[in-house]
Amino acid sequence: MQLSFNFPSPIETILFEGERFFLKRDDLIHSDFSGNKARKFYYYVMHDFPEIQKIVSSGSNQSNAMYSLSVLAKVKGWDFEYFVDHIPDYLREYPQGNYKAALKHGMKIRVQNPGLRAQGEGELWIEEGGRQREAEVGVGLLAEEIVAWQQEQGINSLKVFLPSGTGTTALFLQKNCLLLTAGRSLKTAIFTTPCVGDAAYLKKQFLELEVDEAWHPMILDLEKKYHFGKLYRESYKIWLKLRHQTGVEFDLLYDPKGWMTLLAHLELLEGPWLYVHQGGVLGNESMLPRYERKYKDLTSENNREQYNKLCE
Ligand SMILES: *Cc1c(COP(=O)(O)O)cnc(C)c1O
Repeated sequence: MQLSFNFPSPIETILFEGERFFLKRDDLIHSDFSGNKARKFYYYVMHDFPEIQKIVSSGSNQSNAMYSLSVLAKVKGWDFEYFVDHIPDYLREYPQGNYKAALKHGMKIRVQNPGLRAQGEGELWIEEGGRQREAEVGVGLLAEEIVAWQQEQGINSLKVFLPSGTGTTALFLQKNCLLLTAGRSLKTAIFTTPCVGDAAYLKKQFLELEVDEAWHPMILDLEKKYHFGKLYRESYKIWLKLRHQTGVEFDLLYDPKGWMTLLAHLELLEGPWLYVHQGGVLGNESMLPRYERKYKDLTSENNREQYNKLCE
């Protein structure tokens, strides 16, 4: 496998719910290694690490970071050891999505707490979700691409939206946009919403990476609490609508909350808006059947009419 990245990733115009948005297609960076994980792990792709033989990381058994690390390990010729707290029986029996793809790339999965194990020689340890300072290198490139495009388009003030997990991408994006636009008439403001914890958790994550709050993105949120990985009817609905109206497949874990939050704030915050598609579509392979089973009425052929009405 060769990694040649489609940089700069394209920016398209989409219409959603009657509004115009620019869409940064980071999902098209590479067919096997896309989205913000390609940005976050770019530093490791670009440099040689002669002393490293193995990546060690941990997190959930379906995470996008896990899959991306399996690609990185394969390209580098490294081993990849990944720690999870459990693997459901059905997943063991019928591997799918990120889990299946990562195993195919040679991932060794361990059901065990990695904190109990000392770091061995030749091991590169990566924080859960790629929450690392090294992520700033690739995310800085994303900032460069956005600011250069913004200038080319003559957009003085741009608002950028992306949903957060660890918040690493949003934070480094805001910081680097501020650095790039300092002393210029351009303004690039980053807005995000927490998908994993609440706003207080996300703020804490920002502070761990950057103590100066002047560099932090703006956090927007919804009144209702959404739990990560839970299947909400409105999440599935907005995902279906997005696919129907824009022809783009978004991720099912982060993007539904992202778009719901952005739509809820449009009246308050004037655009133009650029939404960053951060990839993760491979994970839909395991999420989508779960949604389809749970909300048959939105899915089944019998209800095609109702579905079309929903999407109008
Ligand atoms: C990992 C991921 C995120 C979260 O990125 P953070 O840098 O952890 O905030 C958002 N969307 C998708 C599709 C992802 O894979």
